[in-house]
Amino acid sequence: MTGLMQGKRGLIMGLANDKSLAWGIAKKLAEHGAELAFSYQGDALAKRVKPLAESLGSDFLLECDVSDMAALDTAFDTLKERWDTLDFVVHAIGFSDKNELRGKYVDTSLENFLMTMNISAYSLVAVTKRAVAMMPNGGSILTLTYYGAEKVVPHYNVMGVAKAALETSVKYLANDLGPQNVRVNAISAGPIKTLAASGIGDFRYILKWNELNAPLRRNVTIDDVGGSGLYFLSDLSSGVTGETHHVDAGYHVVGMKQEDAPDI
Ligand code: NAD
Repeated sequence: MTGLMQGKRGLIMGLANDKSLAWGIAKKLAEHGAELAFSYQGDALAKRVKPLAESLGSDFLLECDVSDMAALDTAFDTLKERWDTLDFVVHAIGFSDKNELRGKYVDTSLENFLMTMNISAYSLVAVTKRAVAMMPNGGSILTLTYYGAEKVVPHYNVMGVAKAALETSVKYLANDLGPQNVRVNAISAGPIKTLAASGIGDFRYILKWNELNAPLRRNVTIDDVGGSGLYFLSDLSSGVTGETHHVDAGYHVVGMKQEDAPDI
């Protein structure tokens, strides 16, 4: 099975290193013939992103802090100079002050609430608005979310609230853009050890709990996420929009601790 993405061009936003969920998706897309551009935040990441992009045959890198609307405009202007149209975007971006990803949600500061909402939820709206202008023949936009949007996961706090806004944004954006054949979906990934995840309090416990209690009795990998990403960004999912799809080894269907799970 090859070539599902042949002739399609897309932007990957949120690649930090080879542990990133964006990397799992990008690899799978390149394997299937997609032409990729990558946006990164800040010079420190450029050094890591450049060789990864090159290994997938891309020399198209754009700097973009998604909380800066002028930087977003510049990034999409640069994209337009080289590509007249765009077929897909991967939005794999989230951020919050790690001091508030532990302890109680009730202690969230206004400043961090607004910043987390801006970078982790509003940025999908801002990116989508600019991307759609380059999608005259339709397209597919994919974001990444987590179960902490639906249920309380200790320490996830304000990020859970931002992910709830993100998931609802997916539905509203899907409805706005459906008439233009632009689809908007989310993958709700199970916990995976990445740079962003390392900021979440007790993350190792969350990983262990999921491994012991998910129906598949394991954690998911970035390759699992990549496979589902390929489905959403290719024509395989041509009839699907507004969806939040769980790639979590089934964890979200379980209501209590498994009988065979030891105490941890
Ligand atoms: P990661 O650290 O590899 O990626 C996070 C990315 O967000 C980084 O590339 C970072 O540069 C980028 N970013 C942060 N602030 C930004 C800004 N202002 N402008 C531009 N980029 C910015 O971690 P990841 O786990 O691969 O995270 C990707 C997405 O997946 C996030 O939305 C995260 O919430 C989501 N997710 C992660 C997990 C997990 O367990 N790792 C589970 C479900 C969902």
